[in-house]
Amino acid sequence: MTAPTPLIAGNWKMNGDSASLGEALATAAGLGSTKARVAICPSATLVSRMSDALKATNVQVGGQDCRAELSGAYTGDVAAEQLADAGAELVILGHSERRAGYGETNALVAAKTQAALRAGLEPIVCVGETLDERKAGKALEIVTGQVRGSLPAELAGQAFSVAYEPVWAIGTGLTPSTEEIVEVHRAIRATLNEIFGAHGATVAILYGGSVKPANAAEILHADEVGGALVGGASLKAADFLGIIAAV
Ligand code: PEP
Repeated sequence: MTAPTPLIAGNWKMNGDSASLGEALATAAGLGSTKARVAICPSATLVSRMSDALKATNVQVGGQDCRAELSGAYTGDVAAEQLADAGAELVILGHSERRAGYGETNALVAAKTQAALRAGLEPIVCVGETLDERKAGKALEIVTGQVRGSLPAELAGQAFSVAYEPVWAIGTGLTPSTEEIVEVHRAIRATLNEIFGAHGATVAILYGGSVKPANAAEILHADEVGGALVGGASLKAADFLGIIAAV
């Protein structure tokens, strides 16, 4: 089985408007001969314009969430099919800000992941422990439990990635030690191998949580780290390119 191509995905969260498209274009223009696959996941309002703007480039566009249902009376929500129709190729699912802020359970994340596959989107499924869970020595148990509960059987043979994002490292400037990252990534790999057999080895396991140009090389070259999910540092092309260059 071939090792997965490293994926560097930017999560713009609830930031950016049409004036920010220049940062996406500057990212595309600055890629050079990177070995990485690069994606930007803006707010749903920007997916269509960003995918038009980046059409002739090597930067893919993704959504940040989707509803599990195909269509219906779900005011304010976006279906996976609508994201795909707007030009998205990937979608982030189960981000800790959605698990915590909207009560998203593993079962719901799994249903959303099925919806993403139905729409032809490549899921990036997020998992990660809180600080209390880490302090209680439960990081591996929590994360592997999330992997088992959030990944539906339909992912077998499909392209997807898992993002390990310790909740306490997101937007805080704190990062786990490289040893801690590797320990969790190895546990995720073992779980993927158990669930998906040989296909498990082809799944990129991204690290996310306060990745910036200064720490990217050490994190991205650690064992079993197959890329990064980047929040704050993906908003400016110069920072994002600094991370991409570290692959
Ligand atoms: C994220 O929200 O997925 C994230 C990793 O954020 P940050 O890089 O800002 O910590």
